[in-house]
Amino acid sequence: MKSKSRLFSTIAVHGGEEPKFPIGAVAQPIYQTSTFVFESTSKVKRFQEGDPSLYLYTRYGNPTIRAAEEKIAQLEGGEAGLVFTSGMAAISTTILTLCSTGDKILATRSLYGGTHHLFMSILPRLGIQVNYIDSETLEPFAKLVDRSTKVFYIETPTNPNLKIVDIKKVVALAKKHNLTTVIDNTFATPYNQKPIKMGIDVAIESGTKYLAGHSDLIVGTVVGKKSFIKKASYFRKILGGSCDPMGAYFLLRGMKTLALRVEKQNQNGMAIAKFLEKHPKIKRVYYPGLPSHPQHKLAASQMQGFGGMITLEVGGGLKGATKVIDSFKLILNASSLGGVQSLASLPVLTSHYGFSKEDLKKADVSTGMVRLSCGIEDTPDLISDLKQALNKLK
Ligand SMILES: *Cc1c(COP(=O)(O)O)cnc(C)c1O
Repeated sequence: MKSKSRLFSTIAVHGGEEPKFPIGAVAQPIYQTSTFVFESTSKVKRFQEGDPSLYLYTRYGNPTIRAAEEKIAQLEGGEAGLVFTSGMAAISTTILTLCSTGDKILATRSLYGGTHHLFMSILPRLGIQVNYIDSETLEPFAKLVDRSTKVFYIETPTNPNLKIVDIKKVVALAKKHNLTTVIDNTFATPYNQKPIKMGIDVAIESGTKYLAGHSDLIVGTVVGKKSFIKKASYFRKILGGSCDPMGAYFLLRGMKTLALRVEKQNQNGMAIAKFLEKHPKIKRVYYPGLPSHPQHKLAASQMQGFGGMITLEVGGGLKGATKVIDSFKLILNASSLGGVQSLASLPVLTSHYGFSKEDLKKADVSTGMVRLSCGIEDTPDLISDLKQALNKLK
């Protein structure tokens, strides 16, 4: 289904899915099969020569997975897409597609924990070095970029401080030095942020979060130019991070309501951030939609909505934060994000567990922080849960 002139939610519902399914089915059929029958050996040859209507083995490709790939590519505004068995499979396969021994990666400092581990403990064993620059200032860029630097990897907004990386500036710097730009767009989603349209080469999502949206699935996506996706598809096939047809179906189903859910999460995020900012027990609120956020203007210039992720800081350090999170009656103490259920977690016990005092300071993470992923519940119910929990603080 061509979608050039169609708007976001129409694409979310119809994009990538064939106009007619077998037997008049309205929903995408789940091709839960590992392998495919060929009517004749001449068709095997046609498959090997690249006929896209034929399938051989689900790790290489599958019609249900294909539909999810087309849909996410259209939602991100890119040429082509791939679906993986997890966000981490999407990230590691992308990096291995782009980098060889001797290559370097430049990355903004605040990264998802799994990505940080990949960069710090696995890539160095392959002779791939990662250098870090500040997420806000992008310094010291000139000092760290050289002929071996191949990839500029960013994440915005960052976890858990919700700092904003200047996407336009990243694209301009990368162009000068011929770097491939990669963004982890998970926190923003393609509804709130369209990095490919701003010139980023590759957009990755942990589909586990907002795309699938119901905290019931692990999945990842990658969108980019056709030439890159073709290469990455080969790497996925060999490294084995392909997704299961059932997982692709749940991803497809989740993406259909992405705009509705994220719109509500944007509203909840803004309302809750405003409530928290005025609350006497709160030391600081991190939310890019608040005019008091130091990069609010930049956020407003590159995001269409500010999202459902908020970090709040209470007095009394870990003790205070623990008191708040253990007092919630509605909001769940769980570490993921992006689902319909509101979840809260303590960064020092999850994403930044085991960090030394010094490293926490470097990462700008405090023991009194609570990270909140707003779900789609009614705003007054979430605010009254926060209110009663904060009242428990001395
Ligand atoms: C969860 C997450 C990932 C990893 O995704 P998985 O689906 O858990 O493998 C990567 N980046 C960000 C920003 C995430 O939140």
